[in-house]
Amino acid sequence: MRHPVHGSPVQVVRAAFAALEIAPVRLVQAAPIVASRPIGPSQRTYANSAALIETDLPPEALLAHLQQIERQFGRRGGGQRWRARPLDLDILLWSQGAFVAPGLVIPHPELAKRSFVLGPLACVAADWRHPITHLCIAHLKARLDRKRPGA
Ligand code: AMP
Repeated sequence: MRHPVHGSPVQVVRAAFAALEIAPVRLVQAAPIVASRPIGPSQRTYANSAALIETDLPPEALLAHLQQIERQFGRRGGGQRWRARPLDLDILLWSQGAFVAPGLVIPHPELAKRSFVLGPLACVAADWRHPITHLCIAHLKARLDRKRPGA
């Protein structure tokens, strides 16, 4: 949703990239930002992207850091899953492969089903292999595009 300080969803994502340049995270590469049609009952436009980041934080500490950034952007925890929110940061992949803990699953379980994730992700990590299916991101994207052309 529109943010009172940062502005449109695209500007919110740009500001989120700026937040990901601050230690303990380093922004290595940002994908283009793409607007997509909403999923669920909301009629809002979304802006999506993906970033390749480096950090010494282990996955759960990284998630806590990302949730802290979400809070800085005004997101409140809990409530309705599809409620409009200024910013949603997810961990999609990790260089060390799979990771499962209470409240955190890497690779992100919805990764291979969402073209608005795979599109930007393919710009920064096309050759990364899914540690469970062993398919690379470009392959997962091509497979989804075949299943849902134009989605
Ligand atoms: P959502 O707001 O729909 O993105 O869901 C956020 C919740 O998903 C958080 O409370 C996390 O504990 C949980 N979660 C599980 N796996 C991940 C992941 N890979 N990245 C971000 N959140 C995750």
